[in-house]
Amino acid sequence: MSPRVLFVCHTGSVSGAELVLLDVVQPWAGQSALLFEDGPLNQALAARGLNVRISRWGDGLNDVRRNSSFAKVAPVIGAMYGIVAEVARFARKHDVVYANSQKAFVLSAIAAKLVGRPLIWHLHDIISPAHFGKMQRRVQVLLANHCTIKVVVPSKAAADAFVAEGGRRELVAIVPNGLDISPETQTSAELRGELNLPQGPLIGVFSRFAEWKGQHVVLQALAKRPGVSCIIAGSALFGEEAYERRLQQMVQDLDIADRVHFLGQRSDVPRLMRAVDAVIHPSIDPEPFGRTLVEAMLAEVPVIATDAGAASDILEGGKAGMLVLPGDSDALAQAIDKVIPRSSELVEQINYAAIRARSHYGVAQMLDATSRLIRQAAGDQA
Ligand code: UDP
Repeated sequence: MSPRVLFVCHTGSVSGAELVLLDVVQPWAGQSALLFEDGPLNQALAARGLNVRISRWGDGLNDVRRNSSFAKVAPVIGAMYGIVAEVARFARKHDVVYANSQKAFVLSAIAAKLVGRPLIWHLHDIISPAHFGKMQRRVQVLLANHCTIKVVVPSKAAADAFVAEGGRRELVAIVPNGLDISPETQTSAELRGELNLPQGPLIGVFSRFAEWKGQHVVLQALAKRPGVSCIIAGSALFGEEAYERRLQQMVQDLDIADRVHFLGQRSDVPRLMRAVDAVIHPSIDPEPFGRTLVEAMLAEVPVIATDAGAASDILEGGKAGMLVLPGDSDALAQAIDKVIPRSSELVEQINYAAIRARSHYGVAQMLDATSRLIRQAAGDQA
């Protein structure tokens, strides 16, 4: 009999981690999901056949940021208690709890322990001082070591960071994100016309707004390359509006407003990628994975990424894309020179990257692995 699974997620927004969850739940139609807040993820999960419930206690919880101090956490402790009780009540009716990301995990860990249900944590982050405060790192690792049956991570970089913080290595399962994107057949010129994009050399950045995602470094590089335009897709999904305003101010200050096009949150990223001359992945802190890298490889477009976290693995140390130092706008500007116009060696690299993306990062591989882990967790419980 198929195990009864409860998926738990803290947000109703859809960033990379939630896109992964939307794939992971595919074989689990008819199962349950609990979200701490409402949002587009609710409808997307329901469209995949999940019974979605929104927590009564989630309000205000998203004001707790990754590096929040105890003083910031204290006012929402009551709500956290409410969610733990809610998850516990719900978990009793299920065989396995599957927590997506950090906040959902912390509260599910206590709940699952209380009612004796196996817990899988899908960890989409690099646990390090760059991303989390000391208290949060300690709490996460302590709970992971005592309350989970498995910690799923998308890369060796994420696994190593978890272990370096004291996480038990035997808990870790490395399951790379899988992407299922049919190849786009339209040419860049056709797509630019259809999507109303500028002509001439054009690069693209496809990420939510957050300082560590490094969009500002791209603007600095653009200021050094007058002939190049840029599209920036994404929005401030998790309270990074101040950073978004800073980027908008930067394009004025650097006098590049006519060449930088903010497109907002888009649902047609693969097509936009196919239309540009290069995709830039400029994160200044290590990335646990970087779906945009694989999407760019599948879109058969050159990719320039910062050499931190999982990027080097995905791009095979530079064989499937270019790697530059994080935060170095000069290096980024020079890398842009190397991909526009496209040389024959670059075309070979693009073809190689597309083959690599299809063979290493398919959604079927990810679903095999996550579904097996869920079944094993349910079996372990019996
Ligand atoms: N993305 C999107 N619309 C946008 C910008 C980004 O759908 O306007 C998607 C992008 O295609 C990718 C995901 O958001 O699939 C970002 O995933 P990634 O792993 O690169 O970063 P994360 O948000 O998980 O830190």
